[in-house]
Order: sequence, then structure tokens, then C-alpha cells
Amino acid sequence: MSTPWIDFRSLRQQVRMIDVLHHYQIEPKVRGEQATALCPLPGHPTRTDGRRRTASLSIHLGKGIFKCFGCQASGNALDFVLLMEGLNRSDPQHVRQAALKLVDWFKLTFDPPPGVEKSANGRVTDAGSASAQQAAKPRCSSTTASSRISTEGMTAPSIGDTQSTTSDSGRQDNSATAEPLQVVVNAPLPFRLEKLDPTHPYLASRGLTPEAIATFGLGFCNRGMLKDRIAIPLHSIEGELVCYAGRIVDDERISDDCPKYLFPGARERDGVRHEFHKSLLLYNAHRLTKPVEHLIVVEGFASVWWLTMCGFSDVVAVMGSSCSEAQGRLISDLVVTGGRITLLPDGDDAGTACAASLFTHITYPHYVRWLRLSGGNQPTDFPPNELAALLE
Ligand SMILES: [Zn+2]
Repeated sequence: MSTPWIDFRSLRQQVRMIDVLHHYQIEPKVRGEQATALCPLPGHPTRTDGRRRTASLSIHLGKGIFKCFGCQASGNALDFVLLMEGLNRSDPQHVRQAALKLVDWFKLTFDPPPGVEKSANGRVTDAGSASAQQAAKPRCSSTTASSRISTEGMTAPSIGDTQSTTSDSGRQDNSATAEPLQVVVNAPLPFRLEKLDPTHPYLASRGLTPEAIATFGLGFCNRGMLKDRIAIPLHSIEGELVCYAGRIVDDERISDDCPKYLFPGARERDGVRHEFHKSLLLYNAHRLTKPVEHLIVVEGFASVWWLTMCGFSDVVAVMGSSCSEAQGRLISDLVVTGGRITLLPDGDDAGTACAASLFTHITYPHYVRWLRLSGGNQPTDFPPNELAALLE
């Protein structure tokens, strides 16, 4: 049920930019408080020169603001929704319309205005209690006025910061103003995708053997959210299926609206908010049933598949170019004390940032080395014998 009036200040405090991005199926590359993504805004110019698009959308997750260096759009989460929905930011009716969408999507509730009784709990609030609540939310205070939006330093990677998507502290604040809503993160999935096609030509074209396809449970999906994608089951470290990621099979279709890899966003089921945080998982970790002597850490799924096929099955992926604090702990726990960890990210700038975040979050004592690939090379570019020599 929507609230008849909107407290815009409270709305800005309650809505997290990352949740809005997830609502639009955007999975940004997160480094600390900074994130980047391909710009999905309708006003963003389409590229006609055939060159690969770059991630021009820069987001400061902590401040809850964005800026696109391509179409120059900027603002906060509400502005983002206005632009995504094709609404007019200077029309108050449109602004209210966008705000009501946020209220609906994230089940926001607000304290009533001074002197108005709140029917849910009968609590009467006044300006005093409102400001007291605000004092308890210092993290949100910088987003209260859109005129204060600054894009300063938004592209600078702040490696080593705690990945903000792993933090639940911001969410807990809502309990003061909103009705309690149970939040479950990375819960076991209550169903399986049954009719996946493991014989789809895309899989063979990527050099995957039938054994590898079966091991990783891969298959082409022709319906639902993962339509036209290879479904990739993701498991918790205990081995429970948590969700499916989807890799689009037709690279020509990759765009803002159609990311190469699709991860589930937040959704509500039976009054429970289900969230998926990939920063709390390591791909393939559940297959390592006990700590290993030598663990290889890569960025993406394809590297895990390829290394496994080449005989290196003690391999996990952070599923992106950043290692969170939680992932660092998981990695450390997968290696025996005094064991070795080889970092094998892609040979580009994102891979360099990935290695830096891994060095920051892996706890010692472990022997950690970074096999630095160059020229944009990825682990999948190396034939088995070269990979073996590299990993010796
Ligand atoms: Zn843009």
C-alpha cells in the first residue's frame, strides 16, 4: 500500500542507489564506494562507430549519486528513476510519480508530518524526533540536497574500501521509520531451472566439453528472466543453490538494457525481501570440500571453466573485478595455513584493480602471488600447456 504523502528527505535517506540499479537489472562494477556501469539512460547517445562501449556511468554508492561522462546526466537515485522512466525532472507531478515508484518497489514508509498520528503504531512524531533520527544516520546526510551533488573523484578507484554492497548497516536504519521487513540475503533458491539445454552451440563454441558443462550445470535457457542466456548456477559455500546468473549468448545484443552477465536483483516474496549479494559469494568455492595447498583466484566464470578443464580445479572467481572483504575471508579459509594463492585476473586495468583488492582482503599468512597478464589477455586465451607453465 502506498503512502498518501511523501517525505522526500526520508525517501532520499531510505533508498540506496545500488538497489535502484539492481531494480533495473544493472550490476555495476563495484570498487569500494565507487561503481561503474554502461549507461542505461534512454537519453544516452547510441554508438554508431561500431566500437565497444565503455562504462561511462559512474556511481558513488555512499553518497547515492551518479554521473554519466557520456550523456552528462547526473543526480541522485530519484533523478535516476525519473530519467530511466522518461519523466520530466522539473515537473513536480512527474517527480511525485517517480517517488511513488520507489515507495512501491522498496515498500518505503515515512513518519507522519508533525501532529499527524501514524496508524500503524499510533506513534505521534514531531520535528524533534525526526531530527533525532536524522542524527542517527550520518551516512545519509550528504544526500539530502541535490544541489550538493558533486562528481568529484567519482572515477578514482578507491581500492581497499569495504565493498558497500556487503554492508547491511544502512538497511537496518530503516527499522526506525519503516515497518519491519525481513531481509534475507543469498537464501537457497526454492526451485531449479529444469529445461536448460546443455547442447546449445554457444557452449561448444566456447570450448566447453560435455563433462565441464555437466560439472558446472550450464545450459541454455529459453524462457523467463534468463531467456537467451546460458544459465550459470551459483552456490553458497555450503553447496546450496542460491541463484542463477545468465550469460547472453549473442554478443551483438550486449547493451545497457541487455548486460553480458545478468544477476538477480532484490525482490519481495511473501513479505520477505530477498536480496542477492554476489560480493558475499565465491564462484566454485563449494566444490572445494577442504582447504587446499594452492588456490587460484580469477575474475570470471569462463576462467574457472577453462582452468578446470586444463586440470586446475582448485580455482574460484570473485565474479567481477573487485574482491570484497567477505570474499577475502572466504578465499583465506579455502587455503591451508602456509598454503599458496595465485591471483590470475585478466590483463587489463580492471584486472589490476582486482589484484589490488585481493591483496587488500586476503588475510595472511599465505603466500600470495599475482600472475600479471598483459595486453588484455585473459586466462582463457592460454592453451593448456602454456597455462601449466604459467602456474608452475
Ligand atoms: Zn549516459
